[in-house]
Amino acid sequence: VSIADLTKEAFERVEKLDGDVEAFLALNKEQAIATAAQLDQVPFEERGPLFGLPIGVKDNIVTEGLETTCASKILKGFNPIYDATVVKKLRAAGMVTIGKLNMDEFAMGSSNENSAYKTTKNPWALDRVPGGSSGASAAAVAAGEVPFSLGSDTGGSIRQPAAYCGVVGMKPTYGRVSRSGLVAFASSLDQIGPITRNVEDNALLLEAISGVDPLDSTSADVEVPNFAAALTGDVKGLRIAVPKEYLGEGVGEAARESVLAALKVLESLGATWEEVSLPHSKYALATYYILSSSEASSNLSRFDGIRYGFRAENVTSLMDLYKETRAQGFGDEVKRRIMLGTYSLSAGTYDAYYKKAQQVRTLIKEDYDKVLADYDVIIGPTAPTPAFKIGENVEDPLTMYANDILTIPINLAGVPAISIPCGFENGLPLGLQIIGNYFDESTIYRVAHAYE
Ligand code: GLN
Repeated sequence: VSIADLTKEAFERVEKLDGDVEAFLALNKEQAIATAAQLDQVPFEERGPLFGLPIGVKDNIVTEGLETTCASKILKGFNPIYDATVVKKLRAAGMVTIGKLNMDEFAMGSSNENSAYKTTKNPWALDRVPGGSSGASAAAVAAGEVPFSLGSDTGGSIRQPAAYCGVVGMKPTYGRVSRSGLVAFASSLDQIGPITRNVEDNALLLEAISGVDPLDSTSADVEVPNFAAALTGDVKGLRIAVPKEYLGEGVGEAARESVLAALKVLESLGATWEEVSLPHSKYALATYYILSSSEASSNLSRFDGIRYGFRAENVTSLMDLYKETRAQGFGDEVKRRIMLGTYSLSAGTYDAYYKKAQQVRTLIKEDYDKVLADYDVIIGPTAPTPAFKIGENVEDPLTMYANDILTIPINLAGVPAISIPCGFENGLPLGLQIIGNYFDESTIYRVAHAYE
């Protein structure tokens, strides 16, 4: 088949399925078809494993000339003048960007219900959320609209939707993938990562987007391995740690059972597991919401109505323009976080909140360091329950926040983690979370593939 035909077919699939799933915010049809025609000219021997394949991109990753809104009103009409580094890398791999995927506004949320434009549906049950914030990135892959997508993960936003939609989602080590062109939510936590139908595709896509980047000083100058080469099926002698905090109170019976069943499978393949403790896990949620909101309050100050997207009308002064643009442009959840973050960073509260949270973050990181010194991977559920009903948690931000209790500490520590499908509860998929050491995504992929 030609890449042009493959690309046309991809748009047909999206047009057929997206009426139900509502994953895409913008389609890139003209540009994609033009790109495909160019790709058809490339000789076969120069084509890599991802060549010509369609991909969807989360709408907080900037794409030149293609509207990028972060699912916020404040960026309506914003057409970036450059591509994010990951988008350049997709192009270098010969991939075809099909369009931009819905999300919670500025990646704040766990259900896609915080999008200013629409709520994406879970393809397994259209009355349920796809998770978030990269909910549409997971839903589009699960529905078969696209075989690949990019999401971003600040506290679970790749892994939780991957679990809810029954697909594979990887949050790489902090620094593995360049954040240049990712609209910042919490810069010390954000990472872009791949969402795919299986582990091998995921490994190939991560390799394609990884690497040090002069445009992101936090990207790490470490070797990018051939991750797919790690998929040997061999887990003999592998040491698995299972934190008791990950199977305790608040974790659903089905999620717990599915993890224990997965451990049995890995044991039958020659791995061993032991229970461990991550004693500071109980502080992770509070720590995360102070730090991520503090960073967000600073990062989101750039949206002033002058530089990007939306600008309020009928204002009489510059101050008024700022205030009105932000009052009309940001949704409730974003405002809640800006206020929380601004408060934590204020002179009178800085020591009690922001500084204390930074100290606790170090303790959480040390918990992981200690366990990963003795074990190859840590395993637990991705989320306490399967996808919840649309509308079920909107009135209750705290319950919504608690949903990420199992994914958030990983971002605070900076280690990589994947979610792969692992059984069902009432016909809804559950996720298995495999956490590895810094820059050791290869071991995670090896274990995930052996289980898959
Ligand atoms: N759900 C979490 C939050 O609302 C995580 C979001 C994310 O990872 N971007 O902050």
